[in-house]
Amino acid sequence: MFTLTALVDLLESSGKKVTDKEQHTFTNLPASGLLNGKVAIITGASRGIGAASARIFAASGAKVVLAARDEDATAALAKDILSTGGQAVAVPTDVGDPPSVERLVQRALDVYGRLDAAFNNAGDGHMPTPLADIKVEDFERAVRVNLTGVFLSMKYEIPAMLRSGGGAIVNMSSTAGLNGVKGIAGYVAGKHGIIGLTKTAALDYAQLNIRVNAIAPGPILIHRLKQLKSRDQVASAVPMRRIGEPEEVAYTAAWLCSEQASFITGATIPIDGGRLAGIA
Ligand code: NAP
Repeated sequence: MFTLTALVDLLESSGKKVTDKEQHTFTNLPASGLLNGKVAIITGASRGIGAASARIFAASGAKVVLAARDEDATAALAKDILSTGGQAVAVPTDVGDPPSVERLVQRALDVYGRLDAAFNNAGDGHMPTPLADIKVEDFERAVRVNLTGVFLSMKYEIPAMLRSGGGAIVNMSSTAGLNGVKGIAGYVAGKHGIIGLTKTAALDYAQLNIRVNAIAPGPILIHRLKQLKSRDQVASAVPMRRIGEPEEVAYTAAWLCSEQASFITGATIPIDGGRLAGIA
């Protein structure tokens, strides 16, 4: 069960209606070789931003290890990537479960022999409701998947990266990791916590050649948002007056994992059409 945090955020604060602005049409850029030879774990790869990232990491030359609970979806995506000449393996994973995450990292090492990059993207939320009405189990699930999931991912990824001589990690936060959002305290707490974990991990491993950064997307056009009648209203609260595409998040994550971002660590990069810059 997931509620789109950014969507709630935007609906809640949205000002004027969008005027017939067209949604940006994403054109696939050519594969860049940005991640040539690197082995990368992507969590939450069964759909949405994670699946788009898996394709882009693979097209950029990475061998991708696809992690999520939906075994069929990740296996189908791995098959698709293999059929287009990429390298991919699917590993059923629950990021909130320590043995499961440990197995994921071990499988990456068994199949590809090393680990260079990770995009810890898996996330979950809860139905919007004022804090005192949030069920304890809903709060705990949001924290377990978002915050504990990122902690566990890094806990097992980092030793593997150290064995490979270093690496780069990108953790998925949200604009809800930098601002409060009415009604979704569990998700907001998890996404804020991810930024703290990111900064601390960056400091812990800054001298050991592991970079750790976070990204903070605003509303991104995934399946749930596509079905939403009030899409225009969501777009109207974004200074660029549109919703982002999963690929726009994926390219940023891939770049942060690449050598081109070699002096960036401990940062949180908004991908939000200007939303965090202020009110437009
Ligand atoms: P999505 O399509 O719902 O994807 C969520 C992914 O997380 C799925 O692949 C899901 O796979 C995985 N996941 C959930 N619980 C998991 C668990 N316990 N173990 C392993 N994987 C788990 O939504 P999305 O928008 O692409 O979300 C990806 C990330 O972006 C999330 O962290 C979300 O908070 C963040 N984000 C999204 C937006 C947006 O507007 N879309 C904005 C800001 C941040 P399974 O169900 O197969 O396990």
